[in-house]
Amino acid sequence: MLGKSTPFKRRPATPKKYNIRVPLKVQKAKDFPIESLYTNELKKVGNVKMGRCPFHQEDTASLALYPETNSWFCFGACKTGGDVIKFYQRLHGCTFRVAVDELSK
Ligand SMILES: [Zn+2]
Repeated sequence: MLGKSTPFKRRPATPKKYNIRVPLKVQKAKDFPIESLYTNELKKVGNVKMGRCPFHQEDTASLALYPETNSWFCFGACKTGGDVIKFYQRLHGCTFRVAVDELSK
């Protein structure tokens, strides 16, 4: 849940700006709503939204989207899941860096 985050402890001196900027960018990317990347029909089951997995051929919906944590899991052939960055990576076959760049725009 947002708003429940623990206070961020500052490190004394960080020599490179890179060390600070990247996690912020990654955090912004992680906040990109996973549902807006998904184009198939979704069916709401409680707090979960089920749909057909875009990563393998199937007729039944085995992909679960979890809006609360902005994550996903495929219970079908993939048997894998992750966050919105990993979803974007699989969808577009791109690297972590490219996915973060696109999602944090
Ligand atoms: Zn799948």
